[in-house]
Amino acid sequence: SSGSEDNDVVVIGGGPGGYVAAIKAAQLGLKTTCIEKRGALGGTCLNVGCIPSKALLHSSHMYHEAKHSFQSHGVKFSNLEVDLPAMLGQKDRAVSNLTRGIEGLFKKNKVNYVKGTGKLLSPSQVSVDTLEGGNTLVNGKHIIIATGSDVKSLPGIPIDEKKIVSSTGALCLSEVPKKLIVIGAGYIGLEMGSVWGRLGAEVTVVEFAPDIVPTMDGEVRKQFQRTLEKQKMKFMLKTKVTGVDASDSGVRLTVEPAAGGEQTMLEADVVLVSAGRVPYTTGLGLEDLGVKMDKIGRIEVNEKFETNVKGVYAIGDVVPGPMLAHKAEEDGVACVEFIAGKEGHVDYDTVPGVVYTHPEVASVGKTEEQVKALGVDYRVGKFPYMANSRAKAIDDADGLVKILAEKETDKILGVHIMGANAGELIHEAVIALQYGASSEDIARTCHAHPTLSEAVKEAAMATYDKPIHM
Ligand code: FAD
Repeated sequence: SSGSEDNDVVVIGGGPGGYVAAIKAAQLGLKTTCIEKRGALGGTCLNVGCIPSKALLHSSHMYHEAKHSFQSHGVKFSNLEVDLPAMLGQKDRAVSNLTRGIEGLFKKNKVNYVKGTGKLLSPSQVSVDTLEGGNTLVNGKHIIIATGSDVKSLPGIPIDEKKIVSSTGALCLSEVPKKLIVIGAGYIGLEMGSVWGRLGAEVTVVEFAPDIVPTMDGEVRKQFQRTLEKQKMKFMLKTKVTGVDASDSGVRLTVEPAAGGEQTMLEADVVLVSAGRVPYTTGLGLEDLGVKMDKIGRIEVNEKFETNVKGVYAIGDVVPGPMLAHKAEEDGVACVEFIAGKEGHVDYDTVPGVVYTHPEVASVGKTEEQVKALGVDYRVGKFPYMANSRAKAIDDADGLVKILAEKETDKILGVHIMGANAGELIHEAVIALQYGASSEDIARTCHAHPTLSEAVKEAAMATYDKPIHM
C-alpha cells in the first residue's frame, strides 16, 4: 500500500535522520510513511559516508599494521598484498547488509516504505515519482523533511568521479593512485586520504585555511597534523586551487598562496574534492510552499523542528548544526516526540565529533580557544598515551587526553582525545558533560586496569590535582 490513506507522519529521506524519525514515530503509535529515492535506506551515512569509509579505514589499517607493525610483535609472513576488489567487496557487503537491516526494522515497526522522489504539493501532501516509474500521492498530517546534504562542488573543478572524485568516488577507486591530491583538510578528506595513503598513494592535502579541521582544539590539532605528517601525508595550507586540467594521463592542478602570489603546478592521478557539504533541497518544492531557508540553503526551524510552514518539519543535515549522523538521529527522535505531543530535547553542546584516522581524534564540548573566548577561568589536565600502560603494552601510544574544567567549580567544559580508540573513549566524557560532572567526578570513578580509559581518569586527576603515572 502506498500512502493514499492518511498518515500521521510522512518522512522525506531515509538517512539517519529520516529513518530513525520514521521508526520512532511508528513506535510512538503514529501511522508513518518514509519516502526514499536512493533505492536503499540509510542515506549518505550508510551508503556513501560513515559506514563504507569506516570499512575501508579498518581494512587499510589492517594492511598498514601488517606491513609496519606486525614484525615488532613477532608476527611474520611473506607475500603481503592488497586485493583491492576484495577490500571494496567487504565494504559493499557491509553496506548492503546494513541497508537491508533497516528495511527489516521498517517492517518490524510497520513503517510504510515508498521508493521514489518526493515533492511537497502542500503542507500535507507529497507527490512521489516512484523508482518503478509511476507517480503516487502520499498524505500526512505532519511532513518531516530529512533530505540531508550533498557534496559541495568547487567552481571550475568538475567532478567526474573517476579522476576528479568526491568522497563517493573515493570510496570505490578501481586502483590505488600513485599520487592523490585532497582538496580540503576536513575530516572526510583526512579519512579518505588516510585510506589511500595506507594502501600506497602519495597524499597531498591542499587547504585554503591556515589549519586542518578548523573545529578542533588547537593544541590537539597541532599534534594531529604532526602525526599525519609522520604517516607521510603532506599539507599545503593557506593554499588556493586556481585551476584544474584532467586528461587520460592524470590531473594537473594549479595552486597559489591563499593571500595571492606565484602559481605552482601539482600533478596527481586522482584529485579528491572534499571542501564540505551543502544542504540538499533540490526539487522538493519548498520555494512554492514558502518554506524559509537561510543564505546557505539550510531550512530554518525552531526548537521543535517546525519550519515557518505549519505541519512541515525539518531535521538532520538539511538544518543548521553539525552535519553528523548521530546529530541527525537525535533531531529525528526529538522531532517526532514533539509531534506525538511529548517533550523532545537535543543538547547540541554535547554532540561528540570523531575523526576516524589512526590515531582517532575525538572531542566533546568546548575547545581551549572557545573557553578562552568566553573569558572563563579554567584549568587544563592532560595525560599522554605514552604514560598509559595499555597503550604501551599494545605499542600504540601516540596521543593524549586533554580536559578543560572551570577553575572555580571544576565543572568539565570540554574533552579532547587523540589516540587509539578515542572515538569510543569520548563517551565517558560525553556522559560526564551531559550530567554536568566535575573532573574530580571522573577521577574518583574506578576505571578498569589496564585500559586506555585510564588515560581519561588520569587526565581528570591532572585537571584539579596531579596524575599518578606522570
Ligand atoms: P542523508 O544521510 O544525506 O540522507 C538523506 C536522504 O534523503 C538520502 O538518502 C537522499 O537520497 C534522500 N532524499 C533526498 N531528497 C529526496 C527526495 N526529494 N525524495 C526522497 N528522498 C530524498 N557522520 C558521522 O556522524 N560520522 C561519520 O563517520 C561520518 N562519515 C562520513 C563520511 C563521508 C564520506 C560523508 C560524505 C559523510 C559522513 N558523515 C559522517 C556525515 C553523515 O553522513 C551525515 O551527517 C548524515 O548522513 C546526515 O543524515 P541525514 O539523514 O540528515 O541525511
